[in-house]
Formats: sequence, structure tokens, C-alpha cells
Amino acid sequence: MPHVITQSCCNDGSCVSACPVNCIHPGPNDPRFGTSQMLYIDPAGCIDCGACLTACPVDAIKPDRRLTADEAVFAHVNADYFEENPHEDRAPLGPVRPRVYLDESQSRLLHVAIVGSGPAGMYTADEILRHPGARVDVFERLNEPFGLARFGVAPDHRRTRSITDRFRVIANDKRFTYHLGVEIGKDLTHEQLAANYAAVVYAVGASSDHRLAIEGEELAGSMAATEFVGWYNGHVDHRAAKVRLSHSRVVIVGNGNVALDAARILTADPERLAETDISRDALAALRRSRVCEVVLLGRRGPEHAAFTLPELIGLQSLPDVDIIVDNGGEPIAGNSQAAKILAEMAAEPNRGRRRIVLRFRTAPVRVVGAERVEGIEVARTKLVPAADGSLRATLTDDTEIIETDMVLRSVGYRGRPIPSLPFDDKRGTVPNDKGRVTPGTYVVGWIKRGPTGFIGTNRNDAQETVASLIADVRAERIQLKQRQRRRMWRKVLV
Ligand code: NAP
Repeated sequence: MPHVITQSCCNDGSCVSACPVNCIHPGPNDPRFGTSQMLYIDPAGCIDCGACLTACPVDAIKPDRRLTADEAVFAHVNADYFEENPHEDRAPLGPVRPRVYLDESQSRLLHVAIVGSGPAGMYTADEILRHPGARVDVFERLNEPFGLARFGVAPDHRRTRSITDRFRVIANDKRFTYHLGVEIGKDLTHEQLAANYAAVVYAVGASSDHRLAIEGEELAGSMAATEFVGWYNGHVDHRAAKVRLSHSRVVIVGNGNVALDAARILTADPERLAETDISRDALAALRRSRVCEVVLLGRRGPEHAAFTLPELIGLQSLPDVDIIVDNGGEPIAGNSQAAKILAEMAAEPNRGRRRIVLRFRTAPVRVVGAERVEGIEVARTKLVPAADGSLRATLTDDTEIIETDMVLRSVGYRGRPIPSLPFDDKRGTVPNDKGRVTPGTYVVGWIKRGPTGFIGTNRNDAQETVASLIADVRAERIQLKQRQRRRMWRKVLV
């Protein structure tokens, strides 16, 4: 019986290197590794040994006989990948990225400051601690660690959240020290860190968001999805967000996985959410909610939707929620699994208590309202080829106003500049070469590559950044330093 990778796949590739017969793909030498929506097990190659199951940090792998009815589709999703991407190589892969270890006399002097304790920071710590004697100090602005793994992942995605168990194991190493509640740029400067550590690695993510640049965006009732996500996850910056759930409809601009998370939480049965660690204030508000319809606006067609197949499959199994697909009267093109699922959804009768409308070929024109949001004017779009070969959405004159009192913009995260470091304002990232900003200063995660990928994508990314750092140590481009006494920062911070 083959094993199957299911919805909560985090893409960190632990299973790839654990597999003795190289049947989990895409592998690290494949250009699709790191950008693929998930990893897949070849049913023809799997020997049912369970090594992948033990290696997976988010409980995403199951023997096919244990799949639930909702998960059964993943057996096809895994098999389909190998229909389209056949492979013959059955040799074990070994480590995803071969490492060059420092000898102990060098690595004992390798003391690294990591700024940010989200997935990118924790995977970086793990990579550095593989060098015997090396130490890491992790600085975190909040009083709680794990960044988006704690405050970004939706509470109903419990298996994905369990990645924090792996991070706790990393943090339990004697050579790992937290400095929680310390903000670099405010409590300590980059220069102070650089003077006291062999290297500083920024893993600060992308804490801002893109704007829509349309009229009415600033009205009360219009907010970033990032704020809404922070609200339901109890993030200290967003706990008090003014989320009004008094209208029957919420409109979300964008159809990426963040938009899907928000739509699921808004339509979920509060009694099911009560079993999760959702913020208790958010739960109380959701219990009083009048929302029964969430409309997601995608400016392009279903084939360009930003959500991933595993998350779309997750929508299909929501109890008591109808998924309505509105493609402006056009048939759903393509033969992909996602196109098939969307076509199935479009044909299904409506029965649920609440509904999520996936509305395609529709873009926002302006948010309507005097003092607060009363609606959003939208226009049907047409797709025109751009110079780079992609299809861009342009507005047509076919407009309408959708009534609502809450508009969430879910059009992507954006990095913020880091004091003393260069910044690419267009991409919202710190310019770098494989993670190296200058010898001694590095970046990893979203501030390095932009807001793309999944939690586990950061593992490969961290390996690349740490490889650049280790190359700098070996080439003596950075100076190793005697370890600092732990009390030092307490003195500076008091
Ligand atoms: P995203 O995947 O980049 O999606 C952004 C969406 O906004 C797209 O639909 C995009 O449409 C649309 N958009 C951008 N500018 C717009 C504009 N001016 N007007 C209308 N629409 C606009 O961003 P995200 O949802 O924030 O996700 C960020 C990353 O986190 C992704 O890699 C995502 O997969 C990951 N994530 C994963 C999970 C999970 O696995 N469960 C959960 C949350 C987040 P176009 O395509 O037309 O540009």
C-alpha cells in the first residue's frame, strides 16, 4: 500500500531525503523544488516503509488505507503528478543539500544572531547548530516565538501548526538562546549586533501588506487580511482590530491562500473553531456574526487563481458551506485537477448554511461609503497579454456595486526596510546574493525572496543562506568572535 501526501504538506523536504527509494518528488535537484504547491509520493515506487511518515513534521503523510473520505482525492493528486512527470531514478537521495561542516575549533567561535523566530529564523538556527559548538541567539520583537507559524497559520489548520513542535526541539538545544520582546532597530541596533556576533541573519518576514490604491480604501471597515489574520490568531498588534461582522456579506479582494484562510474562518461553525486555539475574543465575535456569504474577487480566471490545489481541496470538505464558482458565464478552461474541482463545485446544488463565492474575472474599482464601508464597486475584467508573456486583467465598463460593510484586501504581504541595510523598494526585499547582503550580514525567508512558498520552503532557503555564511567563514571574510556572556544583552536592554 503506498503512502500519500495530503493537504498539510509543508514542503520542507524532510520526507524527500528520508525516502530510501527516491519516490518523493520534486526532489532538490528539480527546478520545481521550492515552487511546487506540495510534494508527491509515486505510488509505483513507494515500498511502504514509513520512513517519510516519521520524518514529516506536520503529519501530512498517511498510508492510503488510512485516508479519510475527504482525503481520498490526494491519492489521485499524488499519482497524477507522476503521470505528468515520470521518473526512473530509484537511488536514495541522501541529504537535500550536502553540508560542509566547520571543524570544532572554528565552529566553537561561531556565534550568530538571528533576528526573527518564525519558520525562516528557526530553520536557520537548526542549520547553524549542526556545526559542533556553534551557538545562536534568536531575537524576537514579540514575547512569543514562531512568527507566522504561530500568528499566520489559521487555527483550523492544526496539523500545519504542529510544525512548532519541531521548532521547540530546535530551541531546546543548550546552544540556543531566545531574547524575546527585543526589537532590533529600537532596543538594539544592527551595529551593536554586528559588533558582538560573528554574523547577523535577518529572518524578519514581510510584515506589511500591498495596497489596492483605490478610492475608499481607507474607510472604516476596509482592512488588510493580514490584520484580520492577526486578529483571529490573537497577535498583540491586531487583537483590538475593529472587525464588524454585522452584515450578511464580506468581500475579500484576492484569491490566494490567505484569502481562503480568511473565508474559511468567516464561514466556519464557531463550535468547531472553539476546539482550536483561535483567540477567544475573535471566537466570541464570530459567535455573534451575521456573515453568511464571503465573496472572493479574483481579477483573472480560475486557471490563474493564486490559491493552491491542496487548499482548494480543503474547501470542498467544509461542512455546511457551499462553494459557488462564478466565472462570468465563461466555461472553466483546462484539464488540471483544480479546473476539474472548480467545475464540480460550479455544478453542485446549494445546500449549506453559509457560502463562499469564488468570483473570477472581477476586480475592485472603489470602496463605497460615506464614513464607513457600505459596498464595493467592481468591474468585470478582460485579459490582455503583457510584454512579459503573462495575462493582465484590465477593467471593462461592466460594473456593479456589491453591498457589504467589510472589505479585506488580501493581495500579498510586503517586506519593510531594515535599519542600516539596503532595500529594494519595488520588490519589498533586501538585495542579496544567496542570502548574503555583505559578509557578516545575511537574510533568509520572505525578506530575502519575497512573500512566496510554504512554511517548509524556508528550510531549503535557510540551508542556502547558511551555506553562504559558512563559505564566508572558510574564506575568512568574516571574523569569528569569542562567545559573549549571556548577561551582556540584559545590561544593554535595562
Ligand atoms: P498571493 O498568493 O500572492 O495572492 C495574492 C492575490 O492578490 C492574487 O490573487 C493576486 O492576483 C491578487 N492581487 C494582487 N494585486 C491585486 C490588485 N491590485 N487587485 C486585485 N487583486 C490583486 O498572496 P497571499 O494569499 O498573501 O499568500 C502569500 C504566500 O503565503 C503564498 O505563497 C501562499 O501560498 C502562502 N500561504 C500558504 C498557506 C497554506 O499553505 N495554507 C496559507 C497562507 C499563505 P493576480 O494573481 O492576478 O496577481
